[in-house]
Amino acid sequence: MKTAELFNQKTVLSYEVFPPKTTDDAHTIYEALDGLRGLCPDFISVTYGAGGGTNCAKTLDIAAAVKNQYKIESVAHLRGLDLSKDEVLHIIGELNEKGIENVLALRGDAVQDTVPTGDFKHADELIAYIRAHSDLNILAACYPEGHPESESLAQDIAYLKRKADAGASQLITQFFLDNEDFYGFLEKTRAAGIALPIQAGIMPVTNRKSIERMVKMCGIKLPKKFMRIMDRYEHSPAALRDAGIAYAIDQIIDLLAHDVDGIHLYIMNKPYTAKRIYEAVQNIISA
Ligand code: FAD
Repeated sequence: MKTAELFNQKTVLSYEVFPPKTTDDAHTIYEALDGLRGLCPDFISVTYGAGGGTNCAKTLDIAAAVKNQYKIESVAHLRGLDLSKDEVLHIIGELNEKGIENVLALRGDAVQDTVPTGDFKHADELIAYIRAHSDLNILAACYPEGHPESESLAQDIAYLKRKADAGASQLITQFFLDNEDFYGFLEKTRAAGIALPIQAGIMPVTNRKSIERMVKMCGIKLPKKFMRIMDRYEHSPAALRDAGIAYAIDQIIDLLAHDVDGIHLYIMNKPYTAKRIYEAVQNIISA
């Protein structure tokens, strides 16, 4: 199924997982998927090369397992920066063979040990290429606080419009910690003529070091309310985890009350976190 069709029927809930770094850890992804199975995902998306490494095969294998073994709709992430046009054609063939109907088309970031091919300088070029050569449903990324390389949010939204015009049919946001940033972004995107469904990306924060690293990388604002929690509980892992989960639940309830198109949970392969959040919001999301 093309995941864009889901938005006509319901508030969409999806989870994002990543392929384990080493073959020794291969089993951990299946443990995570086992844990997510009962949490009614509308789809599960599988990252590609996030945080380094460019083994696209792992992404496709996991996305195929989600779809064919777990019987859950899947989305495979693709990163254009280090792919050639021929490689993308080959991947499209593999996606068709494996029955995967959805891709999240990204530019990606330059990573060590890889040389950009130059075929896809920005995500809109990859989206247009996939659109011209396949019937796949294409998702794209967007940034409520603006992409860190952008001069302004307005400029970033102008480029986002190119991704929509090139053939994307749904969007997922970068995570954010202040819902007001998302509401402001939504208003500006609609005013720019982008009518695609937009899922709000929520990251349950359970570890101070990792959030600080990501905030630096992604240029995310840290609200005072959030920092008070980090400061108060950073040395009590269980308390920090529970407070991080509660913060995410609070964000999601507010987003649902604003009739958000969908929620995308960056669960970092931790089904326990997803379970706690799902149990807290399941009646609200379906109301
Ligand atoms: P683009 O849309 O190309 O945007 C990048 C920058 O260029 C922006 O500043 C934009 O304003 C500007 N821009 C866009 N189009 C043009 C144009 N035509 N001309 C000039 N400037 C332009 N990374 C991974 O490596 N693997 C993953 O699996 C992954 N999954 C992600 C999932 C989500 C939901 C999100 C939000 C991000 C994900 N990322 C992933 C991170 C992503 O690769 C980075 O944020 C990257 O820096 C930008 O990718 P993009 O597709 O948004 O790029």
